[in-house]
Amino acid sequence: PAVAGFNACPTTVNNVETLACLPYIVNEGPEAFAGFGPPNNAGTHLVSLSGHVNQPGVYEVCMDVTLKDIIYGLGGGIRNGKKLKGVIPGGSSSPVLTAEEIDVEYNFDALSKAGTMMGSAALMVFDEDTDVIKLLHRITRFYNHESCGQCTPCREGTHWARLIVQDFLKGNGNERKMKRLQRVGGNMMGTTVCALGDAAAMPITSFVKKFPLEFEKYYTQAAA
Ligand code: SF4
Repeated sequence: PAVAGFNACPTTVNNVETLACLPYIVNEGPEAFAGFGPPNNAGTHLVSLSGHVNQPGVYEVCMDVTLKDIIYGLGGGIRNGKKLKGVIPGGSSSPVLTAEEIDVEYNFDALSKAGTMMGSAALMVFDEDTDVIKLLHRITRFYNHESCGQCTPCREGTHWARLIVQDFLKGNGNERKMKRLQRVGGNMMGTTVCALGDAAAMPITSFVKKFPLEFEKYYTQAAA
């Protein structure tokens, strides 16, 4: 659309969230809008809450709300009385957080400090029964499919990552493959033409870092 969009003319595309904020900003002034939320993270934000919560949905929040408040307040907690295992806080590319890491404000700065990001503000919550290796496999399959193949680290990395995670699911995982998976993800970071390389790498490296025992469980059970 930047070159040819509406009537084949260059077109700026805004998302609905941006347009929905405009009447308030025009009528009440930018200072009033900026009054919502903490400094540098002003205004309200729409979050899309999905996964194993009692009340999934799209919520408008001020960005001083915590991730915990979103999950247990707005989301009504984890369904069927289960415990939380983790949350992907900003779309599948954002580094995963464990249940112990959700006491963090849901805004750009705080999430960045926590080693993740707000991204698309699409939160995916998963409970204690979730097989995170299967979850990561789904994510790696997606990015492998999306890679256009132009850059070697992304083309090969997304392919290898999918195959390595698949190895764990087949009972062929081991510690060496865990390290290789981490290395494959690391090699994609900052080495590609577009952002998809980084987007594919961040879930890989964060899942290995945050849930090493889940990987271990796969290969120790297979060996038993
Ligand atoms: S990083 Fe972007 S341009 Fe490079 S192969 Fe992946 S999808 Fe294509």
